[in-house]
Amino acid sequence: MEQFDVVIIGGGSAGLAALKQLSSKGIQSVLIEAGSTVGTKNVSGGILYSKNPQTGKVYNVDEIFENFLEEKPWERQITKYVLNCVSKDKVLSIDLTDSHEYESNFGCSVLLNKLNSWFAKQSLETAEKNGGGIISGVHVRNISWDDEKGKTIIQTDELDDFEAKAIIAADGVNSEIAEMTGAREKFSPPGLYQGVKVVIKLPEEIIEERFNLSPGEGTAHIFAGDVTLDHIGGGFLYTNIDSLSAGVVCHYDSLISNPTAPNNLVNALLNNPFVKECIKDEVALEPYPDKNLSKMEQLRIKFAVNKLIKRWEKLRFDYYSHEGKKRFLENNEFNSIEDLKSKIDDIHKELLEKYNTRFETDYVELEYSTKLIPDGKRCRMKKPYFKNILFIGDAAGRGLFIGPRIEGLNIGIDDAARASNAIKQAMEKNNLDITSNYLGDLYSQSVQQSPYTTDMKRIDKYYIKTIIDAAGRRIPPQKIGKYGLLFKLFLNNKLRNISIDIVNKIGYNNMLSIIESEETYIRTPMKIAEKLGSKTTSEYSISIPELSQRISSLNYNDDPQSHIKITNSRSEFMKKMVTLCPTKCYSLEGEDIVLQHEGCIECGTCSPETEWRHPRGEKGIEFKYG
Ligand SMILES: Cc1cc2nc3c(=O)[nH]c(=O)nc-3n(C[C@H](O)[C@H](O)[C@H](O)COP(=O)(O)OP(=O)(O)OC[C@H]3O[C@@H](n4cnc5c(N)ncnc54)[C@H](O)[C@@H]3O)c2cc1C
Ligand code: SF4
Repeated sequence: MEQFDVVIIGGGSAGLAALKQLSSKGIQSVLIEAGSTVGTKNVSGGILYSKNPQTGKVYNVDEIFENFLEEKPWERQITKYVLNCVSKDKVLSIDLTDSHEYESNFGCSVLLNKLNSWFAKQSLETAEKNGGGIISGVHVRNISWDDEKGKTIIQTDELDDFEAKAIIAADGVNSEIAEMTGAREKFSPPGLYQGVKVVIKLPEEIIEERFNLSPGEGTAHIFAGDVTLDHIGGGFLYTNIDSLSAGVVCHYDSLISNPTAPNNLVNALLNNPFVKECIKDEVALEPYPDKNLSKMEQLRIKFAVNKLIKRWEKLRFDYYSHEGKKRFLENNEFNSIEDLKSKIDDIHKELLEKYNTRFETDYVELEYSTKLIPDGKRCRMKKPYFKNILFIGDAAGRGLFIGPRIEGLNIGIDDAARASNAIKQAMEKNNLDITSNYLGDLYSQSVQQSPYTTDMKRIDKYYIKTIIDAAGRRIPPQKIGKYGLLFKLFLNNKLRNISIDIVNKIGYNNMLSIIESEETYIRTPMKIAEKLGSKTTSEYSISIPELSQRISSLNYNDDPQSHIKITNSRSEFMKKMVTLCPTKCYSLEGEDIVLQHEGCIECGTCSPETEWRHPRGEKGIEFKYG
């Protein structure tokens, strides 16, 4: 049986960081990823941070991937971070750039397919030097131990069994490894969020003009108030190079008590006039062919219009892109930018006059996705290991999401480095014995020392100060009635510190239901917006795709075999899945809930009360953006 030093299960950001870190230390490591290629199964908002805490050390992306800053596999470096309090069409924007920059080296917007593909390329070069590598399209099905012979055996759906001396489980929020080994309970709604997201196409220079950005710079807007349709959570809108990521993250508990379909949640955000104005673009609408013409002629026109619209879109996209313009001139396709512009105008005219094509203000959606997110404040593993398996990232429940602080990617990367360091140390001591907890304890202690773990357990007064100061600049306390009194108290340094000390003494955990309440996430931001916000108007009517259109534009590699089994088709939980499944895989037939797994995007929402597995290798959803 083939044996590897370390096997990493899962090729998300956390697993890939582990592969890089282990390989850099000269340790043979093999990463197994279920997706056909790395990056196709991962979803994020998302902003990836590099942090610089005042006390303690974190392992940052730019430390592990030394070419990160040079090769820029991200989208835009976020230089403006804004919290928008929303009530219908009224918005009050509060500049929270100071809190975004608090203890940060930088934060950049990322699309996970691109980012993780880059991580994979970087890790692979180092891994191969040590006899390791990445095997994608393989799903780990089981892990077993032979304690007497000191063997750990990994079984997959696709390969012969093999052995590992140590394992890193980076298999995400719905970790099968955690479940099959009994390392932890399945995560349940109180410890989870559901995130739903769309990627929107928008040309690069239009983004820069609209958000007042220099090339390479980005803005992050987050939203509190009625955009979440009365759920505890928030919305986000991040600028990428030539797209936007927009979505909503809600506490799963809140969704269970009042089920709302994920596509309706994201639609409510997109329908907000402020957001509508951010995402709008010029869109060509294919005309209906003249029914009096022969079928052949109708087809010919349809083909010609389709081709012209594609050409117009492509040239226009390049015209508004720094690289695109450069490419055209280098290829001598056009003599000047003016030539390119006049070509675009000519096609526009031809489409308009010859083919009656309409041009409208609308938005263009590229991808719809949903994923569960672990709330590390409530569900992080206290002992993130089992025998010789170390759990990292979402698999270990380690995300930090509180108000405007939204971090999971950087924490998974920090865990990856800590797990790799522990393995290196245990190898040096020649102590990877599966019957001792030496390796696990080393890792666990290191995780406990991580500043992120500290942040999951307490409120940081200095961070809160940055938020209160920013809010103080926009919100006169006397204008917001009884909340003004509380706010006034918090504006006072001494009183604020005393209150936060008291909360931390009582135990942050015990106070979470008050801190993360409807009052703080929904009602107060709404009241602030109503009293102090400006009215935003948007004149155009947005054409949001139907859910069926969203699903049909996704890439699936169909598996006739279902990876999910309903255990109780009549439970109250399963009834809620009819609404909460983002792709409507569940329906009610008589008194039973039935599943059609073909549209599953592997979000995990139904996992708490089903037998839930990832699909077999290469099967299932393949996200293009993520
Ligand atoms: C809408 C949304 C917004 C977010 N916003 C942010 C943000 O702004 N900033 C931030 O830092 N974080 C954000 N997060 C959280 C962040 O995206 C996650 O914490 C992070 O992507 C998790 O990475 P991971 O590597 O731990 O897991 P994953 O990315 O889930 O990777 C797990 C991998 O394991 C593979 N796998 C699973 N089981 C097996 C198996 N048995 N065999 C083989 N392979 C397997 C899967 O295919 C997958 O590729 C957001 C998340 C969402 C959903
Ligand atoms: S079937 Fe379950 S995992 Fe799949 S998309 Fe629906 S809720 Fe998500």
